[in-house]
Amino acid sequence: MTSARTLREPLEHLYREFDYTTRVEFDAIRFPLRYVDPRDRELVALLAACLAYGRVDLFGRQLDVALAAMGPSPAAFVLGFDPRRDARAFEGFWYRFNRPRDLVAFCVAARDQLARYGTLEKVFLAGDPDPRGPIGPALERFARSFLETDLREVFPRGRLSRGYRHLFPLPSAGGPCKRLNLFLRWMVRRAPPDFGLWTAVEASRLLIPVDTHVENIARSIGLTRRKSRTWRMAEEITGRLAEVDPADPVKYDFALCHKRMSGDCRDRRDVVVCAPCGFKGVCRHWRGRRK
Ligand code: SF4
Repeated sequence: MTSARTLREPLEHLYREFDYTTRVEFDAIRFPLRYVDPRDRELVALLAACLAYGRVDLFGRQLDVALAAMGPSPAAFVLGFDPRRDARAFEGFWYRFNRPRDLVAFCVAARDQLARYGTLEKVFLAGDPDPRGPIGPALERFARSFLETDLREVFPRGRLSRGYRHLFPLPSAGGPCKRLNLFLRWMVRRAPPDFGLWTAVEASRLLIPVDTHVENIARSIGLTRRKSRTWRMAEEITGRLAEVDPADPVKYDFALCHKRMSGDCRDRRDVVVCAPCGFKGVCRHWRGRRK
């Protein structure tokens, strides 16, 4: 594995010099960034993150359908949501595992959580057993608060749909929970591109949202040797990044992910594409060819 000393300079350089303004337009974060009111931004961030599987342009099209149906204030729409009256708003929504009914359930669960706690941050804090401890147990309870809401208004037999369950992965299942870790990154980090509305959660507790892009580049530059994308992989990569910046280990996530996603890294040795890359000295694809 690559040492923190060797990784520091290329990681910091990437983080400092990255063109966030351009790449934000290709990222799911662009949806919550459209909203100025913190209540709308928080709610839209959760919905966008929950749907952020597959390509941004594909789920983004469907998310636009849902957001258009929710009107200028999605938070106000959710707070006053009545499934009998409002469910038809989502009739045009259809994305892979998710159907209109899943969004209806999302609105009912979010409505009830917001009515009880006021903000999603307070929902999270209510289930945070140790504000200095690992983020996993708190994230588990946050996801469970949406899965264990009384949703018989939507699922009369008491059985949640597969699509609704897919919106809220549980850390205890062992997956990387990329979408919920992404939501936390947006909400907690207060430096670009994140908007950091939550002030009571420390950035040092965050875990990197591992998707296929982060997995590939993390393996290339020696942040992990693990073969499968799991919660343990997210912990391992974050642990390596914390050796470089313990207060804010996931600050590198956006730039690493978009470097790969944009084609600036092809996960193979390419003399043209790799030429400006600061990781050549540590990248496994350049092993034995450093000069
Ligand atoms: S050297 Fe090339 S393959 Fe390695 S991380 Fe950089 S761009 Fe990717």
